[in-house]
Amino acid sequence: MEIVLVEGDITEQRVDAIVNAANSSLLGGGGVDGAIHRRGGPEILEECRELRASRYGGGLPTGQAVATTAGRLPARWVIHTVGPVYSRSEDRSHLLASCYRESLRVADELGAATVAFPAVSTGVYRWPVEDAARIALSAVRGRTAASVVEARFVLFSSAAYAVFERTLRDLG
Ligand code: ADP
Repeated sequence: MEIVLVEGDITEQRVDAIVNAANSSLLGGGGVDGAIHRRGGPEILEECRELRASRYGGGLPTGQAVATTAGRLPARWVIHTVGPVYSRSEDRSHLLASCYRESLRVADELGAATVAFPAVSTGVYRWPVEDAARIALSAVRGRTAASVVEARFVLFSSAAYAVFERTLRDLG
């Protein structure tokens, strides 16, 4: 599996699946979540509501992932994952790593070959980008690919892109 870094908007990626940094309610939010629902149209929210009714009445737990249609987006599927809120007093790295691993597991189940990730938890959930990049890239890198051949990280700013690039190089 190849790791690719790009600076850009995840809603514009021509990949099989894009990952959404959702909140546990699955009912939409700001940031990348808002952009995905806005550009993907109401079909995505409709499926999220059905998932809440059938499987996730208590919300999608942090670190887990679930797929819906991508509506009008160029991708085929949106994989919703819930990142942990950053905490200085508690190490939640395993939950952030789990978002990436679980998203890839779901992508494999779908038969997706290309998957795009945002920098989960680095927006409203305040995770420092350096640390988030190390956790994200390590989680994806060590993985044996099944159907996924490309994991693309889509960074929304040149600053975030630079951090991911340096971190990937440092991981060697
Ligand atoms: P979280 O609640 O997990 O922190 P956010 O959506 O607030 O999620 O932010 C996660 C990251 O996604 C941030 O680095 C933010 O800059 C970035 N982001 C926001 N919109 C987009 C987009 N359209 N495409 C890619 N990344 C985005």
